[in-house]
Amino acid sequence: MSVSTAVAEQSVAEPLPVLGRDVTVPLVTGGEVTYAALDYAASAPALQRVWDDVAAYAPYYGSVHRGAGYLSQLSTDLFENARKAVAEFLDCRDEDQVVFTRSTTDSLNLLAAALPADCHVHVFETEHHASLLPWREARVTYLDAPRTPAQAVATLERALAERDPQGPALVCVTGASNVTGELWPVRELAAAAHAHGARIVLDAAQLAPHHPVSVRELDVDWVAFSGHKLYAPFGAGVLAGRSDWLRAAEPYLAGGGASRKVSRRGDGGVDVEWHDSAARHEAGSPNVIGAYAVASACKALTEAGFDALVAREQYLIDTVRAGLAEVPEVRVLSLFGDDAARVGVISFVVDGWNSSHFAAALSAEYGIGVRDGLFCAHPLLRTLLGSDPQSQGECGAPDAAPGEKSLNAIRVSFGAGT
Ligand code: PLP
Repeated sequence: MSVSTAVAEQSVAEPLPVLGRDVTVPLVTGGEVTYAALDYAASAPALQRVWDDVAAYAPYYGSVHRGAGYLSQLSTDLFENARKAVAEFLDCRDEDQVVFTRSTTDSLNLLAAALPADCHVHVFETEHHASLLPWREARVTYLDAPRTPAQAVATLERALAERDPQGPALVCVTGASNVTGELWPVRELAAAAHAHGARIVLDAAQLAPHHPVSVRELDVDWVAFSGHKLYAPFGAGVLAGRSDWLRAAEPYLAGGGASRKVSRRGDGGVDVEWHDSAARHEAGSPNVIGAYAVASACKALTEAGFDALVAREQYLIDTVRAGLAEVPEVRVLSLFGDDAARVGVISFVVDGWNSSHFAAALSAEYGIGVRDGLFCAHPLLRTLLGSDPQSQGECGAPDAAPGEKSLNAIRVSFGAGT
């Protein structure tokens, strides 16, 4: 059986134009080959359209908010319109705030810093470290890895029922796993959270580049994502959602832009009135071009249409999975099983191979760029690989000598530009 017979032939949309399509790389065997970027889950290449938008704006950028000049006014408009474009992309509620951050990690740390006193956080051990770790100052319940989406909901419901129902609570959950690509039952988890008086933040770092995310439909309280995984360059991310906790919290960064009025007190100290808007948590000169690029990516994906993007990606997922299934030594990692809905993120191990060496060989011999390691999700990898990765050292560190059992994995990931 060949891969082409395993996956029904179908007509799928063309990939969206991205940067780096024509990059050639040298091979150890001699010659060179066009680079195959299959590490989208780490950082996706920028859409050509995003790059063009940024290049068109770059000659005209100026400082935002307080500049009197024309270019400052223009930049302020573009920055604030970028906020609106992101709110539209996420189908936010009218009263939601869009805060520009550096990344998903930054967004979740911002929310962690804004938790009300005594907040109880519930998070599955399967999360990326960006979702798993920011809450450590709070009371945290780490939930065991579920083996079905329904089990995830039941596990959360049980944990929420056991907590103090009077206190504030937050659930943090990923929309799509950065290891298995599997979709999590976000709407059902949100319903469970709300039924128990808790709130929920969606880590959409891996979901937003592949599927539409509607805050209203999913009924989540916040969404976090990163521009560099959504076909924009590095350096800008988003936290969007309810404003009350954010307004009540101390600014994430203290400084200009976050403060409305600063005055000396009679006792020699300083009084500060902070903004209530998103600016409260955006002190300092913001990453205007980054925000503009994120907004451009949001618009480009919306215009391309998620129906077409999802259909195309499903074809690629089916093709890759069918190809891997033909190799008996390959074990694809999964929590929810073969029938799970998933995005284009597939991790696997190859019997008899050290994953780092396998990934290095793909690069050196074929010009294929994948990732190996534990993908900043050590507890999940421990569950999936059935061994303890604590001894592996840093995230992504190679683990075993040639010929030894491989304790890390190989990840192939792709998307709209593949
Ligand atoms: N959440 C998930 C599911 C991720 O895959 C990642 C990055 O891989 C992050 C959060 C962190 O994103 P960033 O590194 O852009 O902060």
